[in-house]
Amino acid sequence: MSDRSYSLKKSVLAFEEAQTVLPGGVNSPVRAFKSVGGTPPFIKKAKGAYLEDIDGNKYVDYVGSWGPMLFGHADPDVIKAVKKAANSSTSFGAPTRIEIDLAKLVCELVPSIEKVRFVNSGTEATMSAVRLARGFTGRDKMIKFEGNYHGHGDSFLIAAGSGAMTFGQPNSPGVTQGVAKDTLLARFNDVNHVQSLIEANPGEIACIILEPIAGNMGCVPPVPGFLEGLRSLCDQHGIVLIFDEVMTGFRVARGGAQELYNVIPDLTTLGKIVGGGLPVGAYGGKREIMDHVSPVGPVYQAGTLSGNPLAMHAGYSTLKKIADQSNLYDHLEIYGGMMDEALGGLINELELPYHTTRVGSMGCLFFSEEKVVDYASAKKCDTEAYAAYFHEMLKSGVYIAPSQFEAYFFSTLHGTEEFGQTIRAQRIALSALREIQF
Ligand SMILES: *Cc1c(COP(=O)(O)O)cnc(C)c1O
Repeated sequence: MSDRSYSLKKSVLAFEEAQTVLPGGVNSPVRAFKSVGGTPPFIKKAKGAYLEDIDGNKYVDYVGSWGPMLFGHADPDVIKAVKKAANSSTSFGAPTRIEIDLAKLVCELVPSIEKVRFVNSGTEATMSAVRLARGFTGRDKMIKFEGNYHGHGDSFLIAAGSGAMTFGQPNSPGVTQGVAKDTLLARFNDVNHVQSLIEANPGEIACIILEPIAGNMGCVPPVPGFLEGLRSLCDQHGIVLIFDEVMTGFRVARGGAQELYNVIPDLTTLGKIVGGGLPVGAYGGKREIMDHVSPVGPVYQAGTLSGNPLAMHAGYSTLKKIADQSNLYDHLEIYGGMMDEALGGLINELELPYHTTRVGSMGCLFFSEEKVVDYASAKKCDTEAYAAYFHEMLKSGVYIAPSQFEAYFFSTLHGTEEFGQTIRAQRIALSALREIQF
């Protein structure tokens, strides 16, 4: 697509109209493009690897609804299952068989999950998991990592990643001191720091929650020994280890990051792919902990639409494909490797001081010379350069996250043609940047 033909006329009008009735014109802040500027394309439809906006622009999509679209948009199996379920009513508020089927699949694919509870979002999953860990241990405090994002629950909005990081407001107003005092902040990839926090708060820490591969300050894999170190600290001190795999679950391996790195948490939170593009979150883990959840145990957690039949069917069709395709993650790794190599080559050729990170089909191009390993190093990225790059990519028909501090995702339907278009767009965008900057 040439620069000249690119117009967002209808989106500009829609965005103005949206802002009169929705704060910022959106229902989730990063969508408003605040950190890169300009107008977000309003989307009309999507199929496979492509998005189409209301002005008729088509884009290769690397956001994938922020993760769920592992098999591309409007997957025929998911659509068929949702349509069929809808014909039998959209909600009952009573048990259904599909909840058992999806729960069994989750437990099969993620063996550390012996029992699971479905909720409606990743946010609900992490809030509930932390409540459960507190109820189970009888302790109040939690350790989270700077730059990790666990949804918008009060206790997580302390040095949070994703939109909170993008907008430079890691500590949200409205979170009380009382809540904040129970959240202890640790440096990602730094076991010693975690150990010192535990020693300073003896017998008070209920849980450690983390993204085993951080995906909300860009994509930051764990350094060797980090996850293992946390596991052994938790064992030593009776702390519940929670892997927030809302992003990495079913993304980096069938069994998520815990399978990939072979470190097993006590509780796992899921979202995104588990709902196949419908609103689903889940938390699960050891039976003895999960049996503290009501109605078996005293830790209360409920939901009018939890286990919603449309959502359960969408999740089931997605997870069934994962269970059935034995070479799925090898395929994604091969394509990810190809793309990463091409992009790395381009960066070298243009002599740009940037670097990439990637685990399977999620990754990031960091606009920084310094290797990003934690929140402090992530914050050194050149976000203005990212914004310029972002808009050039959009003009060339490639839709990436409108923030440096988000990962990219691709699907099984991103093939050589899509990657070819992407690398051509990157060549244009990065060459333009080089001319302005260096
Ligand atoms: C997206 C995300 C969440 C929040 O999920 P929502 O469905 O947006 O509430 C929590 N944790 C991680 C790691 C995420 O990536």
